[in-house]
Parts: sequence; C-alpha cells; structure tokens
Amino acid sequence: MLDAVTIEKGLASGGQILNTEQVDNYPGIPAVGGFDLGMKLREHADSLGAAFAEDEVVRLELAGDVKRVVCREAVYETRTVIIATGAHHRPLGVPGEERLVGAGVSYCATCDGAFFRNKVTAVVGGGDVAIGDAIFLSRMCKKVYVIHRRDELRGAKSLQEKLFGLPNVEMVWDSVVDEIRGDSRVEGLKISNKKTGETSELSVDGVFIAVGIMPEKDVYDGLLKTDAAGYIEASEDGATSVKGVFAAGDVRTKQLRQVITAVSDGANCITSVERYLAEQ
Ligand SMILES: Cc1cc2nc3c(=O)[nH]c(=O)nc-3n(C[C@H](O)[C@H](O)[C@H](O)COP(=O)(O)OP(=O)(O)OC[C@H]3O[C@@H](n4cnc5c(N)ncnc54)[C@H](O)[C@@H]3O)c2cc1C
Repeated sequence: MLDAVTIEKGLASGGQILNTEQVDNYPGIPAVGGFDLGMKLREHADSLGAAFAEDEVVRLELAGDVKRVVCREAVYETRTVIIATGAHHRPLGVPGEERLVGAGVSYCATCDGAFFRNKVTAVVGGGDVAIGDAIFLSRMCKKVYVIHRRDELRGAKSLQEKLFGLPNVEMVWDSVVDEIRGDSRVEGLKISNKKTGETSELSVDGVFIAVGIMPEKDVYDGLLKTDAAGYIEASEDGATSVKGVFAAGDVRTKQLRQVITAVSDGANCITSVERYLAEQ
C-alpha cells in the first residue's frame, strides 16, 4: 500500500543479469537464462501492481524530509529513496580500448562471444567472471588466451580445474595488456611480463575485459557516505548515512555481489522504508 515507483533507464528490467547466458545459483529456478530471470522478476512485480517508469535519474536531492528524484522526463518528490543503480564493468584504461569498443573489445563474453566463432580471443582478468568467460569462449573460439597479472587465478577452484583442462585455452601469466592494437578492428595486444619486463605481441581478433566492476555512482556521488571504491555504506537494514535513503544490491558495500544478495537487500530495504515511514 505504499505509493512507490521503480525508475529504470534500461530498455528491459533486469540489470546486469540480462547479459548472462545462464544463472545456476538462484534458488528454486535451476539453469535459468539471465534474460529470462530478469523477465520473471519483472513479471512478478507487474502481477502485484508495482509501478515502473522508463526514465533515467540524472540528479538526486536528498537533504530534508522530502527528497527530489530528478529524471530526464519527470521529477519525483518522495519521502524515501532506495538507490539500486548497480555496477558496471571496470575498464582496463589502456590505449586503444575506448576506440575499439564494439570492434573487438568487449566486456561481456556471453553477449558478444558468438561474433568470434573460430577466431582467436583473449580474456583479461583472473576472477570468476574471467574464468567463466574463458570457458564460455573456448566452446566457440579457435583459441583463447587468458592474460592475468599474477601467477595464479583468484576464481573458484572448481572453475579453474575446468579451465586448465581445456585444450584451446592458453594461460599468459604475470602479464598485463599495455595496448590494444588495430585500425578499425582489434588485431592484437601489446603485453608485458611484470616479472621479466619483457614485452610481446599477441595476435587476437577480440579481447574480453573482465577485471572487476565499479559502482554506478554518478547520481549519488558526494551525497552519501561511501567506501574508497564508491560503494554506498549501508547497514544490514539498508540504511545509509542520509535519513530516508536506503541502498540495495551491487551498489552498496557487501561481501558478495549476486542476484540473491541484491534481492535480499531489496527485501530489507522495503521493510526499512515501511518502518521509517511509520515512525515519521
Ligand atoms: C557477466 C555477469 C555474469 C553474472 N552472473 C551471475 C550469476 O550467474 N549469478 C548471480 O547471482 N549473479 C551474477 N552476476 C551478478 C549479478 O548480475 C548482479 O549481482 C546483480 O545484477 C546486481 O543487481 P542490482 O540490481 O544491484 O544491479 P544491476 O543489475 O547493475 O542493475 C542496476 C539497474 O539500475 C539501472 N540504473 C542505473 N543507473 C540508473 C539511473 N541513473 N537511472 C535509472 N536507472 C538506472 C540500470 O539500468 C540497471 O538496470 C553476474 C554479473 C555479470 C556482469
């Protein structure tokens, strides 16, 4: 019975999970496609009468009892705000990267992998996402290099075992990408070995960057207490440093960034909002 609206700038609800081929760790819905999971969540919300606005929040005014949520198309005045703007991929920040995005540089193997059938690709990173991407790409690419700046991976051991058993995957240890080369498309990578200082060229058709995520902080930057990386500091009930403002999902400080923890945060935040409004 709260007068609430969810503001979503994307064309479809679901956030990052929309780009995931398969989700195997959401309880009760085994082996569900990421897009389907997003749709299921949205349909459930729709069936309960939740209101959605397709709009982009451009500014938040959070001081005072009535907050203003300024969007491209409308301005909302509200007593409480739940920030759930999520996160996005961290760029490598090397020459050639920005210029060749969409022309061989990708941040999503499951979205773009099919474009590299029978081609040579590289994955940069050493966590679960990087390993998952390399395994996924190995099924369609002729060869997959995994470039990691250390001499061991950070990702789950079970995934590592699977990766090391793949005949068309080659590990490039202790190495970083210095430059992504190519005129109109990716043609190769300039890499250097951090231990020996040696530089070399790797001929690839595509590079998948999986070096972590950053919070989507543009709308709240400077308005709330955050950690050094910009994630919103929030307690278990979702409360932030500003009264009436709560944070849920990948955008907040937490141990594990997954759908199930984002959903749990959402449940906590809604309960906190109800309690906050009742106490006002
Ligand atoms: C490749 C990949 C694979 C993954 N695989 C799994 C998996 O198998 N299992 C799992 O549990 N998790 C997985 N995750 C993690 C999971 O997707 C995230 O933890 C989860 O999506 C976080 O949800 P969220 O709602 O907090 O943020 P997000 O999913 O990032 O959603 C944030 C939403 O806010 C919207 N938004 C942002 N800024 C604005 C604005 N200014 N105005 C309006 N709307 C805005 C965005 O459009 C987006 O829809 C994966 C992530 C990736 C990238």
